[in-house]
Amino acid sequence: MERNPAQLIICHDCDLLQRDIPLKRGCAASCSRCGAILYRNATDSINRTLAYTLAAAVLFAIANLFPLFSIEVKGSLSAITLAGAVRSLWDQQMKPISLIVFLTTILIPSLELITMIYLLLPLKFRRVPAGYRIILRLMGIVEPWGMVEVFMLGVLVSVVKLTSSFKVIPGAAVWSFGGLTLLLAAAATAFSARDVWARLDGRSGKGAAP
Ligand SMILES: [Zn+2]
Repeated sequence: MERNPAQLIICHDCDLLQRDIPLKRGCAASCSRCGAILYRNATDSINRTLAYTLAAAVLFAIANLFPLFSIEVKGSLSAITLAGAVRSLWDQQMKPISLIVFLTTILIPSLELITMIYLLLPLKFRRVPAGYRIILRLMGIVEPWGMVEVFMLGVLVSVVKLTSSFKVIPGAAVWSFGGLTLLLAAAATAFSARDVWARLDGRSGKGAAP
């Protein structure tokens, strides 16, 4: 990164004010007083986050298209998808649970995936996505909800087990959800808001060549 913003950065551990300097790829800047890591130059962070997110999107599609579990009724199996489970909870007068499961397993993960891809895919090709400020704000709202999906899935399966006297067999969607959660966590770790801002500043502000 050739652009040196010469901005000041405050240590989150000891509050020492220091200058923000450009780093070599893969290096980290640590506080000169207490040694805490201030920031890293994960130049590759956009590519890595995008790769995890795209893989997560594939698993999310599987999680929604394939059965979540099957219920054995008189020797024959009937498969239930996530959307089907949400609908049947709603119909069985379990509206609050149905709503929470819908939010945490369908709506929030899709928002996470859509915002990430919408932001990172253009950035990868050095373009500025329209309305990126709204997208970044939306990501901040969605973020604390991450990782809840597996918990909610557990709740969903237990509700079904408790309310039905049939044998419940987990389906492909359950395993996909496990993988999805891991990939979303990896994407969140690889994601660097600092890198995104650096690239956005470089493109939208001065229109400078990379
Ligand atoms: Zn410090």
